[in-house]
Parts: sequence; structure tokens; C-alpha cells
Amino acid sequence: MRHAAYRQILNVARRRQYQTMSLLEFYSRRAELARHKVLALRHDVDTCNRNGVRLFFDLERGFGVSATYYFRLKTFGMADVVTQILEHGSEVGYHFEEPATLAKRCRITSARELADEANRKRIDQMMTRNIQRINTKLGTPIRSLCSHNDFYNRRLGVENHAFLSDRVRQRFNILFEAYDPSFKGCFDECLYDVTDNAWLWHGDRSPVHAMLDGVPRLYVLTHPRQWHPAPIVNTRENLQRLFQELYYRSLGLKGE
Ligand SMILES: [Zn+2]
Repeated sequence: MRHAAYRQILNVARRRQYQTMSLLEFYSRRAELARHKVLALRHDVDTCNRNGVRLFFDLERGFGVSATYYFRLKTFGMADVVTQILEHGSEVGYHFEEPATLAKRCRITSARELADEANRKRIDQMMTRNIQRINTKLGTPIRSLCSHNDFYNRRLGVENHAFLSDRVRQRFNILFEAYDPSFKGCFDECLYDVTDNAWLWHGDRSPVHAMLDGVPRLYVLTHPRQWHPAPIVNTRENLQRLFQELYYRSLGLKGE
């Protein structure tokens, strides 16, 4: 069923003459595409759910289209999948979370403390080290970043992308971060799947609706984790998160 739902999106795109592509391709051709119909695809790979990633990737390959996949440090471990995505010509980017990681590690409980100069410097160092490693492993430099939203960010009330420095962007020639207003502003509509309920769309607005309405430039985000739930992986992740939440709550962090 889910497979069919994604196939339908790609089918409607083809029939309605949308050009389906990765965020990087859109960015590189954005001036030329200003008057075209575009479906730009972003997948956030939050867990090591191979089948979830495959569901998207195999269909895209069948349709001969590309997309952007953002991997976290821990999901880059699926090296075979990452390699295939790159070989197909899709984009692999980094789904980063160093600010939340540092806050957890150092038991930082407020956004203000995390934003002080020493911590910003540490975040830059962590990001530099990690991006260097990723680039070496991939054998090609990543060109874009995308902020992961951890439960800890919601507790601190600040997103990871608020800590992305120009220094890191320049050093690694990062063309855009997926939440940059200057980038997202190039699209007419952004659509997201619902992360805690498989295969639904925010506001009940699916990419198919938007394409049938003829909205020209679409940015669509999905989470493979939700489209092909792997019960064991998801349960383990949820338990880890629950224990972490209880632990940090015991440090005096305000709950929601
Ligand atoms: Zn994420």
C-alpha cells in the first residue's frame, strides 16, 4: 500500500510534467527552473531502516528520477545503501545534530548556555570533524546539510540549524541548509509527512493534491522510518528516547 502511494506520487509527477529531482539539483538549476514545474524530494533517514529507504529508492530508480537523502551519523552505517544512492546520481547529505549531542553530553539545560562562545566553538569543532570523516568515507564532498530535530531540541526550545556557523559552511563549501529561508523561499509549497503516524500528510495535503492543483514548485519531505516501520528498530529507538527523556527530566529540564 505505501509502496503504491509513493508510486502514485511519482506517476502523477510524470503525467503532469513535473521535473522530479534532488534538492541539490534544484539549487544548482534554480534560476532556470523559475518557470517550471518541479517536485523536489527530501528523505530524512533517522533510523537504520533499510527497507524504508529501499521503498523510496527502488521506485525512484525505476522512474529514473533523483532525490536527496539526509543521513545521520548513525544511519551512514548503512554503507551499501548510501553507495547505491550516490551511484544512481541522487544526493547524499548530512542530517546533523551536534548542538543537541553536545547539550546532552555536557548536561546543558538552556538554549542560552548552549549558545555561549565556548560551546559554539565546540559545536564547530565537532561538525568539522564529522563532516571531514563523512566526506572521506563517501569519497565525494557533501554539498548540503539538514538539521535533525531531536526531542532534546524541543526541550531546549531551539533547533540545531540555529548553531550552524558560516565558518563551517565556508570551510566545506556547503551550498545550503535544508531550512535556510533563502532556499525554502524558492518553493511555492512545502509538504511534510506526519512523523508519528505512518503515511499521512500534514494538513491532509498530499503532493498528489498539490500537483493536481498545479502548484509549480514543490518541496516534499518524507521520513522512510514511517513508511516502512521496522517494529524492532522503532521500539528500541522509542525506548531509548523514553529513558533519555526521563533522565534529562531528572536534571530539571522543563517538560512540555
Ligand atoms: Zn531527523
